[in-house]
Amino acid sequence: MSTRLITSLPELQNFVREAHAHGRSLALVPTMGALHEGHYSLIHRAKRQCDTVVVSIFVNPHQFNSNEDFASYPRDLAKDTEALQALNVDAILVPHQEDLYPKGFDTFVVPGELAAPFEGAARPGHFRGVATIVLKLFNLVQPDVAYFGQKDFQQVQVIRRLVEDLNLSVRLVICPTVREADGLAMSSRNALLGHDARKAAAILHRCLLRGEELIHGGEIHAGNVLPAMRQVAEREPLVALDYVALVDPSDLAPVDQVTAGTVALIAAHVGSVRLIDNLIVGPPATSPELLLQLAFSARPVIDAGARVPGLETEALCRRIETCRDCAAISSVMIPPREFLAKYLKRDYPDLNSVRVMVIGRNAPMRADHSFYLHPEHPNRFAEALYALLGVRDFQGFRKAFVLTDALRCHVQSDRIPEKALIHCARHLRDELKQFPNLHTIVILGQDAYQQFQRDVLGRKGEEIKAWEEIMKPEKWAQEDVPFPLLRRGTLHLIYCYHPTMGYLHSPSIAAALPPESTVTRDL
Ligand code: AMP
Repeated sequence: MSTRLITSLPELQNFVREAHAHGRSLALVPTMGALHEGHYSLIHRAKRQCDTVVVSIFVNPHQFNSNEDFASYPRDLAKDTEALQALNVDAILVPHQEDLYPKGFDTFVVPGELAAPFEGAARPGHFRGVATIVLKLFNLVQPDVAYFGQKDFQQVQVIRRLVEDLNLSVRLVICPTVREADGLAMSSRNALLGHDARKAAAILHRCLLRGEELIHGGEIHAGNVLPAMRQVAEREPLVALDYVALVDPSDLAPVDQVTAGTVALIAAHVGSVRLIDNLIVGPPATSPELLLQLAFSARPVIDAGARVPGLETEALCRRIETCRDCAAISSVMIPPREFLAKYLKRDYPDLNSVRVMVIGRNAPMRADHSFYLHPEHPNRFAEALYALLGVRDFQGFRKAFVLTDALRCHVQSDRIPEKALIHCARHLRDELKQFPNLHTIVILGQDAYQQFQRDVLGRKGEEIKAWEEIMKPEKWAQEDVPFPLLRRGTLHLIYCYHPTMGYLHSPSIAAALPPESTVTRDL
């Protein structure tokens, strides 16, 4: 499909209506143009996760507090359009200023405490402008998912608050900061830097790295870390520091002691250009996605005062919780809400028809190998599953079956062996409520069996029979358990080897499935 350039609001309305009518998930990447690799990273992620991608370009006058700054902001619509066409986005939205702010416009969104310090203090009214335009864009585009960069950390927190406080039904995905080779965070404003200022600008990132280095070395007192960071910036005469701070990401309050997830914020004038950057503190060698998880998880990961290194397991637990809560963290590939909204909507017009849920790991390394994404090209897992259930293909499958991976949202990340359902059982129970006529759950593999016994059925110790035991001699097993969550009050459970398990296979269990689910069985 070619890229549409949309400049009028009625045209946008038609585009959005059409996308919704076809059940396509819609992504919005809001930008102010002068696009660079940082913007492209958001667009790539949007394209991976959603069916339709709209990139908006609008230099919003209300978020600038001087006309001069607004007038000098870099603009290059021709180059941006070419780049976005090459990226094959579905639509470029370039609204006219007078359409968004017609004469008499007089209603603004005023964010609260989160918008007060740092950028809010340096640029009065800035976040009022940001929140207003973001809400307007959300209303106009009605995206399922909107993409923002970690680069503007405070902005992300202000928008997350806006979404929560005003009950907006958009999911936010935050992407890590993309940097130049010398560490400078990419920004449209970098184009305004002269030659010497450009060289000097890398000092912001070096400042952040100095702080991180000290923290990784065991120094957790902000009072010791911050002066050392400032010293780095003071060595560069072209750089006038505005602020350096170590803050709690949830409320942006300065911290005395650094913990995993603490965020270092920096802003400085380099020559005449004001630049900002930030860094999330985590254990050494933590991936950018996991750092985002640390900063955006609701509760602090560790008690204040604990040393930072050695938190991997904790952090992974948090990641699972956060993902399943759909807090829109960047490593999320196919989060539950998207699964429910997108694939269930597409493939299951009537959730009453689902009689059998299959729980098992379909763990593609890439999201686009996932079971539901291309049902017309079944992977090895799908083929083995159809044979096990006695259905011919996806059409047969979806008449009565649904597949869930308790860790579906983690297709990209490392898993914690045998621990998944500790974190996901609650979400799984919530998911079961979607299927009022559920009769049977088929559990694939030993790992899922043990977790289901322990974390969903609440069995302990000897109540959980050994897997080898129950698999003998038929290579599958079944039982009925009371399950008040379901309409029937009882659940039929079937345990099988995972269908891609290599040499150990369960025979077809078709005969043990509820009769309604096998009506379409024609093998
Ligand atoms: P802007 O055009 O500067 O308003 O930015 C549009 C979006 O791109 C915002 O969500 C920014 O946070 C994001 N963004 C800008 N620069 C970067 C970068 N270097 N890395 C990642 N995201 C970025």
